[in-house]
Amino acid sequence: MHRTRVRIVEDALDANNTIARANRDDFDRHGVGVVNLMSAPGAGKTTLLERALDDLPGVRVGVLEGDVAGSFDADRLSLLHIPVAQLNTGAGFGGECHLDANMVRTALPALPLAELDLLVIENVGNLVCPAEFRVGEDARIMICSVTEGEDKPLKYPLMFRACELVLVNKIDLLPHLAFDVDRLLANLEAVNPGVRHMLVSAHTGEGVDDFRDWLAAVPARVRAAA
Ligand code: MG
Ligand code: ZN
Repeated sequence: MHRTRVRIVEDALDANNTIARANRDDFDRHGVGVVNLMSAPGAGKTTLLERALDDLPGVRVGVLEGDVAGSFDADRLSLLHIPVAQLNTGAGFGGECHLDANMVRTALPALPLAELDLLVIENVGNLVCPAEFRVGEDARIMICSVTEGEDKPLKYPLMFRACELVLVNKIDLLPHLAFDVDRLLANLEAVNPGVRHMLVSAHTGEGVDDFRDWLAAVPARVRAAA
């Protein structure tokens, strides 16, 4: 019984990886670098994108917004006058709490890939299953905000291990919180040794320049690796 269940899960992940490779081929054909942005709900993914994507020098960026329902975040990012597509998992995907490669594939026709250098996929807010599904991205970023507690890397290790950049957001709130940044970073180092991190505030803009530079460098990095 247990063995059968394991088999089914493995098959599902194999199928996902096959579709992720097809997405990857499409991204490569159009020369698009892709990042998958993950976090718990409310960590500040959209606000950070509003800040960082507003002025990406020389990089044509688009966004795929993943949410269970609504187009709240897509509407906000559309104000930046960049291509934005909304993907609702509640519309045809059973209200799933993550994006998978197939969902992303269905949304690709809504994006002008040939006109983009960088695609940011904002995943559904969730610290668990988004980390299990590759969608064809080049890099995975996660945001951990200082209102969530220093223990999160230890409690959700897969998510913190799956990413190559961790943004510690809402640092403007630190004076009001009993939050120990050093303890968070030690916990992060314990589950993902050497992973890059940045301290940012999407609210005040502190640290966002570094994130913007990191994002702007993705397309060239992807082309160099191809
Ligand atoms: Mg959002
Ligand atoms: Zn899920």
